[in-house]
Amino acid sequence: MNKCIRAARAVTMAHGENSTIEDFALIHNGDRILETGTWSALKDDFSGEVEDLGDVTIVPGLINAHVHLELSHLKGRTVQEQGFTNWIKSLLSNPLYDLETEAVRDAVQQMRADGTAFCVDISTRNCAQVAGIMDELSMGFYACCEAIGTQNPKEGAKFFPQKEFTYGRAAGSGHSLYSTGAELIQAVKKANDEAGLPYPIHLAENAEEDEIVASGTGEFAEMLKGAGLLADCGNKGLRPVEYADFLGLLDESTLAVHCVRVDENDINTLAERRVNVCLCPRSNTYIGEGRAPWEKILKSGINTCLGTDSIASNYDLSMWNELEYLLKNIEISLSSAEALAIVTTNSAKALKIDDSYGSLEKGKRAVYATVPAHLKDLLF
Ligand SMILES: [Zn+2]
Repeated sequence: MNKCIRAARAVTMAHGENSTIEDFALIHNGDRILETGTWSALKDDFSGEVEDLGDVTIVPGLINAHVHLELSHLKGRTVQEQGFTNWIKSLLSNPLYDLETEAVRDAVQQMRADGTAFCVDISTRNCAQVAGIMDELSMGFYACCEAIGTQNPKEGAKFFPQKEFTYGRAAGSGHSLYSTGAELIQAVKKANDEAGLPYPIHLAENAEEDEIVASGTGEFAEMLKGAGLLADCGNKGLRPVEYADFLGLLDESTLAVHCVRVDENDINTLAERRVNVCLCPRSNTYIGEGRAPWEKILKSGINTCLGTDSIASNYDLSMWNELEYLLKNIEISLSSAEALAIVTTNSAKALKIDDSYGSLEKGKRAVYATVPAHLKDLLF
């Protein structure tokens, strides 16, 4: 039986535009959108159940382009604003990979309730279990198994489970240039490319990364070396974006996460290679890494997305709160469509899921988010 959702208005983001429809109605079959338009135009031909959301504005289901649900049990258990090395020390003092499935389940349910319909999850140890929980709770996803360490990949190695899910897919990801050996990081990129999957990697996040990539030195480098996780970046004095480019990791399938420490040349390189960038503003602040040059990244035309990162480096996993933080602190003005694109259409394009997500249009998944009161004035 088909159902109808009504709302006072919707910003559908159809065709990537700020397409606002008053007296909005969306007819769906429980999975896909069958039709959208005004209620007055659709009501005569519709006889099913109607859910009226009232005087609210709805938008397409939000996309969180970077999260680590595996760490959902670590809320409040890391230091804040003391820099990356101190943050990672506090993170590592916890039982990191002892998956607490109830914490993951709660996190996914809260994200769904907040309007997030799809996320890119990164797991170091528990990829398949986290994927199972997201699938069960109808969260759209890429469950990315994170490759970390300096070992070379074995011939014919698989980097993620070859398993089918209803709401998402498993994929690979590279942790970072400094912690994932060059051959491994390239092999995972190749595997994702061959499977038509996007390739997420933490890139240009902090000063520690700059130093390791350029010269292999620093306190954090020594920590990694002690754990057998220090990748040889060649000590050629390169910047992270330059080194990633040298390794052939930068193209339109790549999702470069953070990009806090990028200069004009780096931004030009990312734009030329058509790399997608995922900003994680509150995570960078929480850790004390500074902030990405959001304005320059957006103005360069780079396809820009937003992610919360994990609860171990954020206050919550709300995409609305993440967007609010960005909009309150950014020094250029964004139109409603530009702001909403960062959490809908841009991410759908970056992640190659725009056949199902990113806009409220016929054929796409029937998922939406309601604009909260505290964002109305910032957005419209
Ligand atoms: Zn991350």
